[in-house]
Amino acid sequence: MTKYFEVLRRDGPARMGRLLLNRQISTPGVITPDDYLSAGSVYSYDSLDEAIAVQESLKELKDQKKLAILPYVPSALRSDPSLELPDLDFDGPKGVLVHPFSQKVPQESDVYLMGNAGSLKNPRDLVEAVIKVREKTSPDSALYAPALATPSNLALLVYLGIDLIDGTRMIADGLLGRYHTRDGVWSAKELAERDELFCLCPYCQRMREKETRPETNLLVSHNLQKLDEELLAIREAVRSQTIREYVERQVRVTPDQTAALRFLDGEHGYLEKRTPTSRRSTFYANCAESLQRVEVTRFAERVLERYQAPQSDVLLLLPCSARKPYSTSRSHRLFAEAIGPARRYLHELILTSPLALVPRELEEAYPAASYDVPVTGRWDREERAWLAGCLEAYLKRNRYARIVAHLEGELEETVRESGLDAVYTGGGTNGPALQRLADAVREACHDAARLPDQRLLRYRAHADFYFGQGAGGALLAGKIVVKGREIQDENKRPLASWTINGNMALSMAGAKRLEPLGRYIVTIGDFLPRGSLLAPGVVDADGEIRPGDEVIVVGEQAFGIGRAKMSGWEMVASSRGVAVEIRQIKER
Ligand SMILES: [Zn+2]
Repeated sequence: MTKYFEVLRRDGPARMGRLLLNRQISTPGVITPDDYLSAGSVYSYDSLDEAIAVQESLKELKDQKKLAILPYVPSALRSDPSLELPDLDFDGPKGVLVHPFSQKVPQESDVYLMGNAGSLKNPRDLVEAVIKVREKTSPDSALYAPALATPSNLALLVYLGIDLIDGTRMIADGLLGRYHTRDGVWSAKELAERDELFCLCPYCQRMREKETRPETNLLVSHNLQKLDEELLAIREAVRSQTIREYVERQVRVTPDQTAALRFLDGEHGYLEKRTPTSRRSTFYANCAESLQRVEVTRFAERVLERYQAPQSDVLLLLPCSARKPYSTSRSHRLFAEAIGPARRYLHELILTSPLALVPRELEEAYPAASYDVPVTGRWDREERAWLAGCLEAYLKRNRYARIVAHLEGELEETVRESGLDAVYTGGGTNGPALQRLADAVREACHDAARLPDQRLLRYRAHADFYFGQGAGGALLAGKIVVKGREIQDENKRPLASWTINGNMALSMAGAKRLEPLGRYIVTIGDFLPRGSLLAPGVVDADGEIRPGDEVIVVGEQAFGIGRAKMSGWEMVASSRGVAVEIRQIKER
């Protein structure tokens, strides 16, 4: 419950928000001693009574709108504090120190300070500490990690879920002669002696002019400037929904940071609960960590658990293409020509890294339509195991009489090694290769049953993919008319349409058809929202809802449709912020 902090954007655990003190701090951001009044450690007082009296006196500071940081009891990282102070009922902006590994749920607060943050050198401790604090505090409060940030680790900290940092380490390290950039830390003295300060900021210009050893105040100013610059770059990465790509690059600076990202990826639930279902940006799968991304595992889970392939006798396995959606690529156009009219008698499944399996009907769903990988033709052991495992699970659920594999190189090798019984054509796009494909497909489709209209299959697949098993059946029940990017019922009433980024937008009639399934529903109180639905108006929300999901808003007075701006659990736990961008709403 907070009045002074609001989250405005989310991309995974990274957020952008604003903290309303005597100045507005845009987060992720730097908090300075001018922004708060800290009562400090209880041990700085003569008695506990005195500390409690000071805590009470913080109430008088409400009008100053500075963050009032309550007195705290210091304690070692993994032990509980020996004392406890009473909670403070305070109406102004409040800051409370939290011991990450303590069992105690902290009192309500606008800002939580992470205890021992500055000493979190071990990557496992760092990840565990942030997750522990985040999970026992409200999602609409800000998390402040004192004395921890450097230009090089800042991206990781923000991606972990830290909103506020300070310049403490930059100042302390400046006094010790340490020269910071996003790429790490150097001895300022050595760089200056060789005339090799590799920064063009005004402070470095002035350090260059001096013959003697670098002045510490200039060095501190340079360090702080590098921190500010990095913060700007990170804010832009969160805004443009590329923070994950940014972090995967930046953690290479030290093995500890890379380890921290891997530990974080091990906390799949923490990430999944916060990761949007689609992004405007292209998903870059550049490194081994990309294979662990929520977008990859979520896509595979939905293909294997929500999606149901159409009844088909024949399955055709094809490789992916650099251009997305695959159908628009040269290779897939050639495949389509070679397959010819047989296309109505077979089902196509595209094999790719890191998404593993993309049924043709889902090629426009996120991130199938917008990912990019370094294409080398090499499949490493992890990729092979992941693909083979997904393919095996898929074929248990969706059965075919005959399989044609138009694959080549290590991809073909991977599928062959998995023991799949198929006609292997050797893949390729030259004349003889396409002829082999055409021959194999013609042979396999002999006597095969014809598949339903491809356009209907696409809608059905996407409905299941976005709203869960059975949604396609419910949405497309009865006679359906396809009109451009829209499907309509027999009375020409629109049910759903495509959005540009491959999402599905429901109409009111479409939402009515899905409502009985009880999924992706946001239940509101007894009122009719106008414009945006704010979190305090949410009574309940499906725990599966993620930012970007299409949702159905249901209340005693209202029925509507919109896009989720936060996860379902966050809507329920938050007292500020936009929960759903409503597109249409009516009185019941
Ligand atoms: Zn500089």
